[in-house]
Amino acid sequence: MDPGGTCPKHMVHGPCGGVRAHGGCEVEPLPCPWVGEPTVAWSGPVDPRLRIPAPLARGTAVIADIPAPPMDREALRHIASLLAGSVDAVLTGDHGGARVQFPPSYRALLLRDAGVPAWIGLNCRDRNRVALEGELAALAEVGVAAVHCVTGDHTALGDRPDAAPVFDLDSTQLAALARAAGVPVSVAEAPAGPPRGRRPARLVEKVRAGADVAVVDHCGGAGPVADFVAEARELLRAGGLPGVPFVACVPVVLDRRSAELIAEFSGFTAPPGYLERIVADRHPAVAGVAAAVALGTRLMEIPGVWGVDLSGVPVPGDEVSTARALATIGRELGGGT
Ligand code: SF4
Repeated sequence: MDPGGTCPKHMVHGPCGGVRAHGGCEVEPLPCPWVGEPTVAWSGPVDPRLRIPAPLARGTAVIADIPAPPMDREALRHIASLLAGSVDAVLTGDHGGARVQFPPSYRALLLRDAGVPAWIGLNCRDRNRVALEGELAALAEVGVAAVHCVTGDHTALGDRPDAAPVFDLDSTQLAALARAAGVPVSVAEAPAGPPRGRRPARLVEKVRAGADVAVVDHCGGAGPVADFVAEARELLRAGGLPGVPFVACVPVVLDRRSAELIAEFSGFTAPPGYLERIVADRHPAVAGVAAAVALGTRLMEIPGVWGVDLSGVPVPGDEVSTARALATIGRELGGGT
């Protein structure tokens, strides 16, 4: 059987992180064909040398998803200036409500000029391998902290279902392409996504392909993150591979709407009661900051975790207040020092 033959993303190293909790496809009303298959091994060259992104050098980095509105140069610069000195890098991720963004290399240039290390997300949905090679060459030229390589949500999700999905490559293949371009590479893995027991093995194949850093998606709190990291490190050791740094995602929720938006992330799993307690508080923004600091502190105590990613979706119009909250969380966690 060729699972990729029925996968809407044509994945070679499936499954993606969007598999539904019951094993269904994130796009079609069908079972994900990868869930019952063995982990697909990376068959290309393996380079065991790690390139540690500069923001991770201290071993306690704070990275923040930058909450800037799309295609607004001045707003991006302003938001970056609010985060500068409080976090160690900003991550430009994907946005289901705003798929059209400035190209990654242009955003990297704007962030570099704003004086904030840029950790740039690149997905396989919007560009074929030739366009991705061009972006990677430009990102290497600009000089970025790292490139975060993901397969990406399907175009059927989000605000541009009219666009044709590309998926010429998957995240594992993109990690190899990024390594060849000479930039530090991060990849994501979703411990809470089916098949749960094999997610650490899937991460190992991404490391063999070229990943330098593993970002652990929202999977239910410090306990599940610790279990995933411990098992992945053991598999890496057994395979003679380097112990990559792990960066754990912290959900940043400041009100009911931002709680609803983050819950729409593919595979999102919050710590039990986390969202509910913030939303029920008389001052949810204050409670959200305190909850993120508490969870971030616990995550950074886990062996192998070198940093956290403050992750959330700003409510449109609330980008500045969200950036200020991220800066507060970043400083409390020792970011930007
Ligand atoms: S869940 Fe992801 S990997 Fe599985 S079939 Fe759907 S798109 Fe493909």
